[in-house]
Amino acid sequence: MKIGDLFQTNKTVLSLEVFPPKKESGLETIYQTLQELESLSPDFVSVTYGAGGSGGCNATLEIAKTIKERYGIEPLHHLTCVNNGQKDVAEILQEMKKAHVENVLALRGDLPETGEAVPDFCYAKDLVAAIKADDHFSVGAACYPEGHISQAIDQENYQHLLEKEQAGADFFISQLFFDNDCFYRMLEGADQAGVTKPIVAGIMPILSKAQVQKMIFMCGSSLPSKLIKLIHRYGEDPVELQKASLDYAWEQMSDLIAHGVDGVHLYTMNRPEIALKTFDYLRGERH
Ligand code: FAD
Repeated sequence: MKIGDLFQTNKTVLSLEVFPPKKESGLETIYQTLQELESLSPDFVSVTYGAGGSGGCNATLEIAKTIKERYGIEPLHHLTCVNNGQKDVAEILQEMKKAHVENVLALRGDLPETGEAVPDFCYAKDLVAAIKADDHFSVGAACYPEGHISQAIDQENYQHLLEKEQAGADFFISQLFFDNDCFYRMLEGADQAGVTKPIVAGIMPILSKAQVQKMIFMCGSSLPSKLIKLIHRYGEDPVELQKASLDYAWEQMSDLIAHGVDGVHLYTMNRPEIALKTFDYLRGERH
């Protein structure tokens, strides 16, 4: 099923993200995670590509294929253009077709520190257009409630979103954020810019003080004072911090659903208990 079509019902689309485990852990670890997530019946599960030193790009397709075949859940295969030229992309798409994977999240990927150029596709929109040349695929793209970390001018955020839609993006998934108002502001800005495709909210619960520090610097996401106080209070107690932060994430998701957002995407960090504790309640709440 094409993910773009899922938004045609009035229900909030609920989805999860996993990443390929490091090579030494082997793929079986991710299958154990997926087995635990299966009971949540997410509308789709996305699999990252080449991010964060994970276990190789081929693993993404292998996992996406298994999500479809073994668990009967729709996979969303992330794909970046930083490491892939036209020929590579054509080959990867061919492999996806053979595996009946029909949903791709088209991304630029983070530029290497050497600042090397992207081979053939400069921006994600160019990759979106290349994938959409084949109508086998439904294509998603990334969006940023607080702008991309490297983007200087706020207004460009919406222009780039519109360009991705014009290139053929069927839906968007957002960068993680902790302040729902940032997401609502982006929805307004996107609407004013003429973006019409569904926009899914990306939520990542905080698991440790170190993780949140890393995330702030990687993504530029702002922290509301409620969350800062919570980290201050439980920062040295990982168990209590996790409990409080799962409550926070759950409140964030409930509020998003109450606002009638198109979808909520939970970054599981391959920790099934995060999804089990927050996601299950949402099924009863969504419209
Ligand atoms: P683009 O849309 O191309 O934007 C990149 C930069 O260029 C931005 O600063 C943007 O403002 C600017 N820009 C865009 N268009 C133009 C234009 N026409 N002219 C001038 N400037 C422009 N990374 C991975 O490596 N693997 C993953 O699996 C992965 N999954 C992700 C999933 C989600 C939901 C999100 C939000 C991000 C993900 N990322 C992943 C990270 C992403 O690849 C990085 O944030 C990357 O730096 C930007 O990717 P993009 O697709 O948004 O790029």
